[in-house]
Amino acid sequence: MSSGSDIVHVAFVPSAGFGHLGPCLRLAALFLRHQHCHVTLITPKPTVSLAESHLISRFCSSFPSQVSQIDFQLLPFDPSTENSSDPFWLQFERIRRSVHLLIPILSSLSPPLNALIHDISLISPMIPVSDSLAVPSYIYFVATARMFSFFSHLSVLDAANKQAQGHPASFIGDAVEIPGIRLPIPRSSIPPLLLQPGSLFEKIFMEDSPKLTKLDGIFINTFDEVEAEAMAALNSGKVVPGLPPAHAVGPFMPCEFEKAPEEENSDGSLMKWLDGQPEGSVVYICFGNRTATTREQVKEMAEGLLQSGYRFLWVVKLKMVDKEDDEDLEQVLEPEVMKKIKEKGLVVKTWVNQGEILGHSSVGGFVNHGGWNSIVESIWNGVPVLSWGQNGDQKITSEVAAESGAGIWPAEWGWGGEVVVKAEEIAKAVKEMMNNESLKLKVLQLKDAARNAAAVGGSCDIKIKTIIEELRKKKKKTVH
Ligand code: UDP
Repeated sequence: MSSGSDIVHVAFVPSAGFGHLGPCLRLAALFLRHQHCHVTLITPKPTVSLAESHLISRFCSSFPSQVSQIDFQLLPFDPSTENSSDPFWLQFERIRRSVHLLIPILSSLSPPLNALIHDISLISPMIPVSDSLAVPSYIYFVATARMFSFFSHLSVLDAANKQAQGHPASFIGDAVEIPGIRLPIPRSSIPPLLLQPGSLFEKIFMEDSPKLTKLDGIFINTFDEVEAEAMAALNSGKVVPGLPPAHAVGPFMPCEFEKAPEEENSDGSLMKWLDGQPEGSVVYICFGNRTATTREQVKEMAEGLLQSGYRFLWVVKLKMVDKEDDEDLEQVLEPEVMKKIKEKGLVVKTWVNQGEILGHSSVGGFVNHGGWNSIVESIWNGVPVLSWGQNGDQKITSEVAAESGAGIWPAEWGWGGEVVVKAEEIAKAVKEMMNNESLKLKVLQLKDAARNAAAVGGSCDIKIKTIIEELRKKKKKTVH
């Protein structure tokens, strides 16, 4: 590590799942654009998925002199707090229970830390850590500014409804009105686990929402052309009085370090297949890193894609965790369907480099699960989305996708697995996405805005530079 008082040293603490790790590392990469910035990456071990551990190795080897990595062995599960079967949520809880152990590790770093940037899911347990180190603490939020507004406004709603005893299921009515935000959030879009009293999700949200005012800032993977209204509401103090500055530092760009070697994915053959397809002709389907699709829905999806008449590249996930997803698609789909699929498209069950796929000129539309990283990546490449929110905040994300003009959202499809959406409906929606010229135009405008925001000298770059300067000044004050 280069030495000297000019170095700004930032520690990043991610949480579980590729959808949380990816944006953390992309944000770290934005800091690393600045030569005098050094990053210490805390990596909670063991990771849940293989995709996460691969990404960590590639990130660290891409910045050998600017990044130090610290493996952080987590405490074992506490069975008394486990009320979830979701391995990623259990890992959130495990990381939350372990982070106090970071205090001696982080306080012995040299040069001393200037800031801590951690995942949204770690707010309460990280406050004593940053307090004890006396460093500014920031969170990175992996979803939309709309969702963040909802999350922060929860504490206000809760305080106004004490008789509901902290249960959103009781104090949330038909819709949530957030001051400064025109469109209310309907109850049907609220993450289902938040409306489940006693769930881990509810516990973390309700414990952390009132603590947001203790932070020094919030980084959100969004930009003004997509979410100006929510960003303005957050920073006006209307959503929650006393909220620290929320910085729209998106769109987080796909980075060079994310490119996986051939043995980790099927990109080689897949990219060759895409090369052979006409421009804008392929529908790409992928439901992120941790959303499994039921067998019934997979069958309807296959029929629907065939009925749409479009070529397609389909990434299928039958299990939530990649290392357990070992079933062949042939065991789910009839041989004649498999034959037709192979004539018209490409189906894979491996990890793919989504950034590269969305950047390929043959891809004309993206059917996804309302994952915000995926939608931002689609905007980044000017590809319209069909956003089918499957779980969590993904309906709220789908609202943003539809409202910003990035795509369409068939709200009547409900949550993933709620009903089996029939092939005819899927075919109809795919055609709507692929044929809609005004949608294509709008997404291309958003793409331009995204590229401008993320460019060197763009709004995102300027914000990061300003924050680094502020951290440097704070450090000088402490030293004198
Ligand atoms: N992703 C990928 N290859 C895959 C599946 C997912 O690169 O085979 C990446 C995708 O590009 C995105 C992230 O995984 O960056 C998924 O995040 P998102 O917020 O879209 O959804 P989540 O997986 O968190 O539900």
